[in-house]
Parts: sequence; structure tokens; C-alpha cells
Amino acid sequence: MLLLLLLLCALQPSVPLSLPTPPTKNYDVLIFGSGPTSLSLASLLTSSSSPPTVAIVSKDFSKPWIPNYGAWETEWSTISNSYDSKNVKNLSTLGVDHRWPDTSCYFNEGPPSESRVNVGASYIRVSRAGLKECFTDNKKYSVVEENHVARCVAPNVYEDGEAVVFDGEFTSFKLSGGTSISGKIIIDGTGAESTLTLRDKRENEGYQIAYGVEASVKGEGVGEDRVGDYERDKMTLFDYRIENFKEKDKVTNQPTFMYVMPLKSVNNSPRIFFEETSLVARPGVSFRACKSRLHERLKGMGVEVDEVFEEEFCYIPMGGEVARKGQRIVAVGAAGGLVHPSTGYQICRSLSCNLIVAEAIKEALDLKLKPDESAEFIYDKIWTEEQIKVRNFAVFGGEFLMTQNVEGLKGFFSGFFKLPYPMWHGFLAQWRTLPNSESHENWWRRMFFGVTFLTKIPPKTGLNMAKEIVLYTFKTKDLIQSVTPLFSGVEKFKESGRFRGETEGDVACKSEAREMIEESKGGEGGGR
Ligand SMILES: Cc1cc2nc3c(=O)[nH]c(=O)nc-3n(C[C@H](O)[C@H](O)[C@H](O)COP(=O)(O)OP(=O)(O)OC[C@H]3O[C@@H](n4cnc5c(N)ncnc54)[C@H](O)[C@@H]3O)c2cc1C
Repeated sequence: MLLLLLLLCALQPSVPLSLPTPPTKNYDVLIFGSGPTSLSLASLLTSSSSPPTVAIVSKDFSKPWIPNYGAWETEWSTISNSYDSKNVKNLSTLGVDHRWPDTSCYFNEGPPSESRVNVGASYIRVSRAGLKECFTDNKKYSVVEENHVARCVAPNVYEDGEAVVFDGEFTSFKLSGGTSISGKIIIDGTGAESTLTLRDKRENEGYQIAYGVEASVKGEGVGEDRVGDYERDKMTLFDYRIENFKEKDKVTNQPTFMYVMPLKSVNNSPRIFFEETSLVARPGVSFRACKSRLHERLKGMGVEVDEVFEEEFCYIPMGGEVARKGQRIVAVGAAGGLVHPSTGYQICRSLSCNLIVAEAIKEALDLKLKPDESAEFIYDKIWTEEQIKVRNFAVFGGEFLMTQNVEGLKGFFSGFFKLPYPMWHGFLAQWRTLPNSESHENWWRRMFFGVTFLTKIPPKTGLNMAKEIVLYTFKTKDLIQSVTPLFSGVEKFKESGRFRGETEGDVACKSEAREMIEESKGGEGGGR
């Protein structure tokens, strides 16, 4: 039989011996990644009537999410209501693991009765498993559990030419498991280390580094209603005190703070999530330093970690620019620079932004735009001129925070929380569809915020800030552009007109050539 088969093949040299390539699967939308950004977007897109065809592409789709996400309750409830209205349900119930009615901070040294500041805003811990369930139960999108293998080296240029192929209607990918897949609109939700799209000025990024443990605790400092200085019915956002540390100079110059989420007791044993965090630094502080500080700080309060249930190594790049213009693939979430450049908050911003992204995708599909036009159209809806200016304002915030020692940061934040609630919360949210963002929505409101803030912080921190503003202004016009009407124009994605697909080619170059030909015709000798 085998001989016969070989003979047949020999007689018909045109018959290929290899297996035929499986047909490429085509979708309206391909979303790479399976973090909160990607799955929330897939759910929003497919929860409407007559949804587009959507596929999630990620090897990690079935794996649980790892980070402990924290958020302000007012943001979460706004997002839950919006998702509810789009038929993506249960974010406010399944998606929440714990609620604290108030949030505390410690900026001054001394006993908690003197140093504690309650900011009067409630906080939640997101239920990672519950939120994932909200986005995966009854899913109407396809899932391909493979990764892309593309490595972007220049806008729309990839190291391996086979990994991504652009054509007039579709973008096709050869995935890690050999599957061929293509989509009209391609979304990059592969996180901060994306290799699918490019963002500039990443060398200017700072890093939020934090070492966290979810643990049971023991010791003389553990009481019914408190663990050390931390009250069990409140979340602690910042404890910047340094009195419990031996090496005060080191902590002063490389500041970290404790972030505390007291959780429900298990078998009468108080459980708590502690995280020693460097807000933003370049280079990032060491995880080991955070870990030893965490234990030292707790020891000073008579608290000892008993059993560790989970460790968290948090690494969040912050700042840099948003996606480079002219790319055919749309970067969202951490991949798209949605991380708040001076706080590291991102989950609410991404979930909220996706409401805009989902609408833009549907509109682009209805308009039958070519892939490059669709990308430009969607980017333009995400990054309005004002949203870029708001982000630039926060990038300066991150730069300033990186220049401060612990005294500067204590001064900065104690002044920050003396601002009216809509102003400080608006700065932490800074996404136009989140509550209180209107207090940052235009240049004069941002200027008003800045000037009011300067009146709340200690004079030394104020002088430092004034100095940094001057130095920063020599480097870039971004801050002045954000808080004054000067240098008003920000280059928008749509205006860049860098890339318009195969049929139209590069419109900007063509019109420039046309203009130059006209100029030459008008001049001596004329042009052809
Ligand atoms: C430890 C930690 C704690 C954080 N805590 C908070 C917090 O409390 N509050 C807050 O607002 N923000 C927080 N953040 C920031 C931010 O919310 C998270 O980073 C968030 O997970 C980003 O979501 P994302 O979906 O954009 O990206 P990610 O969650 O990073 O998801 C990226 C996805 O892409 C997939 N992927 C990667 N490469 C490929 C490939 N080649 N092909 C296909 N798929 C690929 C990955 O498997 C993953 O599924 C935290 C971040 C970290 C790291």
C-alpha cells in the first residue's frame, strides 16, 4: 500500500507531500491579549444586537489574572452603570471583592491619632476572578489560545515578515501554534511590554514598583478593630511615615509608602493585604528593599506576618508617550499608554476608555473604512486633543514626583488631599468619562488646579515645584500647552494623515508633492 502511494506521488510530481495550510479565519475585530482591557472590550463589542465577529487571541486566556486591582468606588460604580447599560452585567457585585467606606493616609510622623488623615472617599478591591467571569460568562466572541509572534521595529514594520501581513482589507497573523488568522480591525491589548505597537519616549518612563503580601498577622499590635496603626474598616492609601525605619536616610532619599487593604477574617484570623510601594522612580527601586521595609514597618507597629497566602510583585511603567501615529494596529489599555502617568492607576481608565473604543470600532465597521483609516479613526476618538493635554499634565506630575524625597512627597500629598474633593479626585481619574474629570477638562481648569494646589503645599515643596516647572518648560512645551492657551495645537491622529492604505497611499506625501509641483510650475523654468 505504502509502495503504491509513493508510486502515485512519484507519477504526479505536482501533488504536494506536505499537509495543506489550514484556511485563514477572518474576523471583523481581532483583539490580542486577555487582560481586563482586552476582555472588557470583547464583551462590550459582542453584547449588542448584530455584533461584529470578534476573536480574543491569547495563550493566557484560561489563566487567572494576577494583580490585586484597587479603585475608587465612585469610578467603579460609574463604570458598572455604563457597562450595565451595554448589557455587560454584574461589575458592581461580582466584580467587587471588598469595599471600604473611607480611605486613610499618614503623612506626618507620630501616633495615628495625630497623623491619620481620612480623605472621605470609599475604595474597593476588584475581584479578579469575579470581574473575569463578568467578561467571559456567556461570551459571544471566539478565543484562540495562541500568541502573536510579531516584533514591531518601526511603525507597521515587523522583524519577521510572515508574522504579520498587511493587505488592503485585512491584517493577517501567523500565530505561535501555527494558526492563520486575520481581522479588519486589530486591537493590541497585550500590556505594557507590547511588541505589536510602538510608543515613543519610553526611555523617559518611571516605574512603580511594589512588593505585596496577602497574609494573616499576629503580634501585640493586632487588635479587634486595628492591625498596627491601620483601622480595619478603612483602606490605607499612603503611609509615608519613616519613624519605624533604622536607615532613615535611605528611606528619605528613595521613598516608599505602605498601601493596606484589611480584608475579612478567615477562621478568626485577620487577613490583610500590605504593599510597600515606590510610587514612581527612574530607575525603579528594588523589590528586595520594598520587602524588607514592609516587614520593618510592621515590626515597628508590633505586627508580624504569620502566614503568607499570596505575594505580589508589581511593576508598572508610567509616562512616555501614547501610541506612535500612523500605526495600523490600535493599542489600548497598558499597551496604549492608558496608565495614569503619575499614579499608576489604570484599570478604571481602560474600562472606561473601552466604552469609547467599542463605539468607534462599530462606527468604523459601519463606514466600511480601510484598515489604516479605521485605526486612525479609532485612535482619534480615544486621544482627543484635550485628552492628550490632560495626559501631558500628568506626565509632568510624574516627573516632579520622581525628583522628590520623602519630605517633598509628604508635603505634596498632604496639600493634595486638602484640595476640594472634585479637584483631587479629578486628577487621579483624569479620564473624560470618569467622574470629576471635568475639573481638569480644559486649560484654565488645569491652571486653576495648579495654582490652588500651590497654595495648599508647604512653601519648600512649592518652591521645588516652581523650579521643576521652569526646568521642564525648557525641555518641552507640553506643560505650558496643557495649562495655558499658548501653543494650542496638538497633532491629532487624524490630522497626521500619515498612512491611508494601499489604494490611497501616503496622502500627506502625495499632497506635499502636489504642492511642490505647483510651486515649481509657478517658478522659473516650471516643473513637469
Ligand atoms: C501587580 C500589578 C498591580 C496593579 N494594580 C493596579 C491597581 O490596583 N489599580 C489600577 O488601576 N491598576 C493597577 N495596575 C495597572 C494595570 O491596571 C494593570 O497592569 C492591568 O493588568 C493592565 O491591563 P491590560 O489588560 O491593559 O494589560 P495586561 O493585564 O498586562 O494584559 C496583557 C495581556 O496580553 C497577553 N499577551 C502578552 N503578550 C501576548 C502575545 N504575544 N500575544 C497575545 N497575547 C499576549 C497577556 O497574556 C495578558 O493577557 C497594576 C499592575 C500590576 C502589574
